[in-house]
Amino acid sequence: MDDYILEVKNLVKHFPVKGGGRKVVHAVDGVSLRIKRGATLGLVGESGCGKSTLARTIIRIYDPDSGEILIGGRNIANLSQRQLKPVRKKIQMIFQDPFASLNARMTVKDIIAEPLRVHRIGATKREQDELVYEILAKVGLERAHANRYAHEFSGGQRQRIGIARSLILHPEIIICDEPISALDVSIQAQVVNMLFAFQRELRLTYLFIAHDLSMIRYVSDDVGVMYLGKIVELSSGDELYKNPRHPYTQGLIQSAPAANPEAARKKKSIPIEGDIPSPISPPPGCRFHTRCKYAAPRCKTEEPELKETGAGHWAACHLLG
Ligand code: SF4
Repeated sequence: MDDYILEVKNLVKHFPVKGGGRKVVHAVDGVSLRIKRGATLGLVGESGCGKSTLARTIIRIYDPDSGEILIGGRNIANLSQRQLKPVRKKIQMIFQDPFASLNARMTVKDIIAEPLRVHRIGATKREQDELVYEILAKVGLERAHANRYAHEFSGGQRQRIGIARSLILHPEIIICDEPISALDVSIQAQVVNMLFAFQRELRLTYLFIAHDLSMIRYVSDDVGVMYLGKIVELSSGDELYKNPRHPYTQGLIQSAPAANPEAARKKKSIPIEGDIPSPISPPPGCRFHTRCKYAAPRCKTEEPELKETGAGHWAACHLLG
C-alpha cells in the first residue's frame, strides 16, 4: 500500500482585502495533493499563484478557511496552536530568503537551538550545544561559527543555517519554499545536493516549491503546476515534461530556457501572453482563459475539474474531455 505521509484535501485560504469590504484574495482555492514518504513533490507556477501561501497554510503559519491537512493520517487543519506543538516536530520549513528568515540579534547557536528549547530536547544547555555542533558539521559549517551572527555569513551559509534549524528536531517532512532562488547560481547546486543527500540519509519527504521548471524537474518525483490558487496539472515529473497536457503547463515548458544553445535554437518558444490576473477577482470559468490560445466560449463560464487524463496524470482543462 502507498504510504502517503502528507495529504491535502480541498484546502482553501482567502485573505480579506484591507478597506475592500467583502473582497478577498483567493490565494489558495481548493488545492488537493499528496506525497509519499521519502518522495519529493515539486510545485511550480508564476509568482503570485499561491504556492507560498499554500506552503504556509500546510504548516499552519496561516489557519486554513476550510479543507484538510493530513500528516500521517491525522488532520491538523483545525488543531489549536497548543495541539500543534508535537506536530511541529514532524514538519518543518526552509524559507526562501535566508537574509530575512534568521533573527539578526541571535547567534547561530541560539537560532538553531531555539526549537530544542521550545520542545525541551536536551537535558542541559551543554547537551543542546552539542546537538547544535553536530548539525552544524552536517551542513558543512564549523563549531566556531556557532557564536557568530547571521549577518556575518554569505547567502549560501545562511541557507545552511536555515537547513540546520529545520533538521534539528528530526522532522519527517520539510517544506522547501524556493530555498535557492535568493542564492547565487554558483551555490544553488551545492544547497540542492545537500538537501537531497539529507533526504536519502534521513528518508525525508519534501514539498519543493520553485518557479524554475528545470530545477523542479531535477529534484522532483511528482510535479504539481499551480495557477491562480489552483492545481491545474499533476503527475510524475517525467510524464509531465514529456507529455504536458494543460495549455498553461505547455506554455511554461516551452518558454523555459533550454539547457544548451543548440536546443535553444531549435526550440519554438510560445510564451504565455499577458499577466496573471488579480487573485482578488479571478476570471470566471477556467481561470486561465484570459491567457489561453485555445479558449472556447465554454471556458469563460464553466470551471474545468481536475480529472485523471491518463494513469496518474491529472489535468483541469475542457479540451481534455
Ligand atoms: Fe484553455 Fe479552456 Fe483548457 Fe482553460 S479549459 S486551459 S481556457 S482550453
